[in-house]
Amino acid sequence: MAKSPESEHPIKAFGYAARDVSGVLSPLTFSRRATGDKDVRFKVLYCGICHSDLHFSKNEWGFTTYPITPGHEIVGVVTEVGSKVKKFKVGDKVGVGCLVGSCRSCENCAKDLENYCPQQIPTYGFLHYDGTRTYGGYSDHMVSDEHFVLRWPENLPLDSGAPLLCAGITTYSPLRHFGLDKPGLKIGVVGLGGLGHVAVKFAKAFGAEVTVFSTTPSKKQEALEGLKADHFIVSKDQEQMQSTANSLDGIIDTVSASHPIAPLVNALKTDGKLVFVGAVFEPFELTAVSLSPGRKTVAGSAIGGLKETQEMLDFAAKHGITADIELIPIDYVNTAMGRMLKSDVKYRFVIDVANSLKAP
Ligand SMILES: [Zn+2]
Ligand SMILES: [Zn+2]
Repeated sequence: MAKSPESEHPIKAFGYAARDVSGVLSPLTFSRRATGDKDVRFKVLYCGICHSDLHFSKNEWGFTTYPITPGHEIVGVVTEVGSKVKKFKVGDKVGVGCLVGSCRSCENCAKDLENYCPQQIPTYGFLHYDGTRTYGGYSDHMVSDEHFVLRWPENLPLDSGAPLLCAGITTYSPLRHFGLDKPGLKIGVVGLGGLGHVAVKFAKAFGAEVTVFSTTPSKKQEALEGLKADHFIVSKDQEQMQSTANSLDGIIDTVSASHPIAPLVNALKTDGKLVFVGAVFEPFELTAVSLSPGRKTVAGSAIGGLKETQEMLDFAAKHGITADIELIPIDYVNTAMGRMLKSDVKYRFVIDVANSLKAP
């Protein structure tokens, strides 16, 4: 018989969890494993709220098992390390992103692409190799193999830096991988939310001229003045879209809802690349002859490997890149989820876990 969340492991833990498709989060007592030889245990200080947390809480992707404790933008301070841990000591500031495990032996893992390992273990809502469930960062503490723990740069803020662990790496990785990180390139960013606003910051830090595409005309001022983007295009305005034809080296599309992509392909120059990082499940309409004249590429990208995530954090610290956040107590989380659904946040909620999560 399956053990209960409270009795699977020896160490008591607590957090917030959704228990059914309503997605409403409420306090949950569960357990975490004892610190293994290669494990790092840390007290959670901050955790960002990602759109995936909402999708999972409501079982919108169809593979949620309840109870589920979301959270994969987790920053904390180390409280215990296993005897074989090399990279960390008690008191270190650390982060955990979307993954807490991978096979470590496949072709992807060998190339530091744990994010494409077929046996990867997401930070919450999946089974660990021992058959127990993973719980995310809306909780008092975490335990993870040190390979999946990031060193937190000295001068990177803990709260506004937390969203970099998902939103940051999700946009940084394709900019790097597809060669869209060179000064002077013209880069488009579609969607100005949690992902999009950090995509603009990374692209600007790489020296790009950045065009933001949004369906919301009222975001123009914040895009140009707040985020220092160079151009703003209302993507529903055909004339404005046509003015971008053959002008961009690359586009990072962060939108998680079905939307027309032919006008975006049209905005690419020869050899331009359109990269999707949002979770869109509906098929899109695209013709081969919109790609072949101009040798254009349409691609996808998902988070990043651990080595690249560390590189991204160090780059962000060096260039002063953080997310724009609204810091909230954990008992505000359901309200925050509702507001996030309406895009009523600039641009990421971060839970002040250590100061607001009370032991039951
Ligand atoms: Zn995420
Ligand atoms: Zn692997």
